[in-house]
Amino acid sequence: MVMSVSLAASVAIFCVILFGRHLLRRWRHHRRITTASMPRDSPNPGLAPSTIASLPTFAYQKAIDRSGNATSVQCAVCLGQAQEGEMVRLLPKCKHVFHVECINVWLYSHSTCPLCRSDVVDSPKVAKKVEDGEASAPPELPV
Ligand SMILES: [Zn+2]
Ligand SMILES: [Zn+2]
Repeated sequence: MVMSVSLAASVAIFCVILFGRHLLRRWRHHRRITTASMPRDSPNPGLAPSTIASLPTFAYQKAIDRSGNATSVQCAVCLGQAQEGEMVRLLPKCKHVFHVECINVWLYSHSTCPLCRSDVVDSPKVAKKVEDGEASAPPELPV
C-alpha cells in the first residue's frame, strides 16, 4: 500500500516536471520568434522619432527676394505651398523645407530627403539603434 502511494506520488511529480519543461521550452521558442521578428534590421530604415524631433522646426515666413517678390516654398511631400505661419521643418544638410506633418510621416520610413535624396542626418542607422535600445519593452512574462 505504502509502496503504491509513493510510486503514484513520484509519477505525479515526474509528470509535473515534464510539463514544466515543456512550458519553458514553448516560452523560450516564443521569445525567440518575437525577438527575430523585431524590425531591427529592416531593409527600409527610417529615422528614429527622437532624431526626427531634433530637426529644426519653425513657423514659415515668406522671404522677400531682391526684387521685392515673396518667395514661396513648396512641400515636396504633399506638393502644397507652405503658408505664412505654418509649422515647417528644415532638413539641416540640404536646407529643404517641408510641412512638419508631411516630413514626419516620410521620415518614419525613409532616412533621405524626399526632394534631393541626400541623407537627412549622418549615419541614421546608429541613431536608430540607440533609439531601439531605449524603447525596448521588457521581456514578455509567461502566462
Ligand atoms: Zn506638405
Ligand atoms: Zn533635400
